Amino acid sequence: MRTLVLDQGYQPHRIVSWQKGIALLFRGKVDVLEEYDDEVRTVSSAFRLPCVVRLRVPVPFRVQRIRFSRLNVLRRDGFVCQYCGQGGSARDLTLDHVVPKARGGQTAWGNVVAACKPCNQRKGDRPLSRSGLTLKKPPGVPTWLPTGPGHDELGSAPDAWGEWGVVARQAPEACATVRAPAGTS
Ligand SMILES: [Zn+2]
Repeated sequence: MRTLVLDQGYQPHRIVSWQKGIALLFRGKVDVLEEYDDEVRTVSSAFRLPCVVRLRVPVPFRVQRIRFSRLNVLRRDGFVCQYCGQGGSARDLTLDHVVPKARGGQTAWGNVVAACKPCNQRKGDRPLSRSGLTLKKPPGVPTWLPTGPGHDELGSAPDAWGEWGVVARQAPEACATVRAPAGTS
């Protein structure tokens, strides 16, 4: 189980293990926005695992260039075909040049999207306008990518993360309880 960490502006910042999420919580670095139903028990108390947390202090600004790679494109697109919306694993999905390479299209963030094999084949070397396909969203340079252990596929991201722009591909994990940040209730 993992914890989605939002920055102060409620934008996805990173994804960490729940253990790390708890460590952030205990160090007073974050407020909990959503919790899992699962509990951890200590000798004296029990508490629920953090599902979505928000940092209490701003993230230090740093210019972070995310490397263009096949995997990072798939991660940016949430492992979902940008034409039909079909989700898949890294093996199922391909990269498609929106402007085909044969027509001068570049291999860069702004021209490459995740595509399932049928859509990629259907599009072939045609320009988008003549392919009968439409893009879910225009591709761009990502400002953040999930980090941490085992996050190359967001396949089982909790449903609640969708609210924060991190979209699940498969059946969501249960994570429903919303608790107001400490001190507001
Ligand atoms: Zn598709």
